[in-house]
Amino acid sequence: MTETKQRKIYDKVSKEKVEQKLIEIFGSENVTGKSVDLYPYSYDMTECEAHMPDFVVLPENEEQLVRLVKYCNTNAIPIVPYISGNNVGGLTIPEKGGIVIDFGKKMNRILHIDENMMYALLEPGVTFGQLYKYLEDNYPHLRYSYPFAPPYAGVVGNAILSGMNNLSCKIGSMGDSINGLEVITADGSIARIGSCFYGKDEADDDSWWCRYPMPDLMGLFINWQGMTGLVTKCAVQLWPNPPFKKTYLAIVFGLEAIAPVMREVGRIEVVDDISAVSIEVVKMAIEIPEPTKIEGEPDFAALFPVSAKTENQMNAKKEILDSTIKKLQDQGIKVILVDVDEFSRLFNLRVRCYLDLPSVVLTLVEYSGLTWFGSYAPTHKLEELIREVYPIFLKYNVPPFIYMKIMKHGHYGIFRPIIRYKKFENEEKIHQLLEEITEVCINKGCIPYKTPVWMTEKMRKKINPGWLKLFDKIKNCMDPNNIFNPGRWNT
Ligand SMILES: Cc1cc2nc3c(=O)[nH]c(=O)nc-3n(C[C@H](O)[C@H](O)[C@H](O)COP(=O)(O)OP(=O)(O)OC[C@H]3O[C@@H](n4cnc5c(N)ncnc54)[C@H](O)[C@@H]3O)c2cc1C
Repeated sequence: MTETKQRKIYDKVSKEKVEQKLIEIFGSENVTGKSVDLYPYSYDMTECEAHMPDFVVLPENEEQLVRLVKYCNTNAIPIVPYISGNNVGGLTIPEKGGIVIDFGKKMNRILHIDENMMYALLEPGVTFGQLYKYLEDNYPHLRYSYPFAPPYAGVVGNAILSGMNNLSCKIGSMGDSINGLEVITADGSIARIGSCFYGKDEADDDSWWCRYPMPDLMGLFINWQGMTGLVTKCAVQLWPNPPFKKTYLAIVFGLEAIAPVMREVGRIEVVDDISAVSIEVVKMAIEIPEPTKIEGEPDFAALFPVSAKTENQMNAKKEILDSTIKKLQDQGIKVILVDVDEFSRLFNLRVRCYLDLPSVVLTLVEYSGLTWFGSYAPTHKLEELIREVYPIFLKYNVPPFIYMKIMKHGHYGIFRPIIRYKKFENEEKIHQLLEEITEVCINKGCIPYKTPVWMTEKMRKKINPGWLKLFDKIKNCMDPNNIFNPGRWNT
């Protein structure tokens, strides 16, 4: 871990002066430089190298952040935006030290729910659990799309990282469902992006309804991992919450047979989401923490949540799903469709966690360490990816945990090999395994999201030089003093 004294960030202004300034801006109760407070921000659940920040601040409003950004920009001090550090990519580990801005504690208000245009205007710290409860209590006819992330992870962090959630078969990446952003850029100016761009100093709450058709500046902040500015408000789309819901579970025999099952079911436009896991994960869900596959067992299972406005519509959707499964069976694919509500009753709450999101999916958090190669993947290569990645897990004697999704009815997919491990134990072996998986997947065209620095280093060797040049130009232009989350994407 690098210590402050090894860095040169306090050449222009002393650390003591910086602390005084932070206290002046945020108040002493919202600033800390004590090691005991800083330590939790120095690492996350991944095996990524830890780095201590120098300060953590808890902002309450935009005005404080404008002052902070101007000060840090003048003095070239790194700032790392943070919500709850649940990204599983080391993205909030302060590579170059500096100041962590923790939005999760005091900038976490749901500012507006627009029933008519179906969106929620949020501060960055709003969590999935908070939004779920708020909608359930006040707008039960509206719903959001939830990931397998815990309820205490952030909605805005997930959206600006192009998360994939439980409506993704319909709506695709969560990045696409952002209607508007308010951001602070390096010179301290505040910009509103999207239909909320009308209005000199303020936007009406009901003006955050769309991001088109002006030049799409949203892309300057989505997937940039906090490298181009600070998001202070974000409007995300909501959807009608139909009263009829059911989840089906497809059990598939044959390692690669899951791929056509996912693709075919994706195309019928009947299911809200498709998430498939290797059978080892099903065993983890029924309390076998280190499972092995027994000969003759199925290889994958996929969840298909379905929702409908009426019982008739639900029955019609089920009929289409059944006929698709039958068609696949006729092609020789061994797949069985079961009612997962019945299945979950046979076991325990660990299985229900997967169905009733947002929830703490115990399979994912029961070990202190969690890391993954999470990627957007070409769905026509899922067979090859499974074939090559599955044996890598076995080589390292780690239970194969492969998670996949179909996005936007099959236009693209998700391929995510996951590793649970004991944090601070065997991290080198875990890293080697992940690196080997990364090589295979990048060579097949997978594009990782939530990328740790070592991963972007690998990607840079394969990316078109024109793209890299443009990327570097934009980063330089947006952040000339490299203060925003420096080090990410090897900046
Ligand atoms: C067990 C588990 C399961 C998960 N399952 C899924 C899943 O199924 N699907 C999925 O999509 N994700 C999943 N995730 C990841 C998670 O949903 C998102 O990454 C998360 O919601 C964002 O985390 P966070 O709110 O803690 O943000 P952080 O991790 O704190 O920050 C995320 C990134 O955003 C930047 N950032 C934070 N705030 C700002 C700001 N105000 N302005 C600019 N940049 C900012 C940070 O610097 C960082 O780069 C899972 C995570 C866990 C732990």
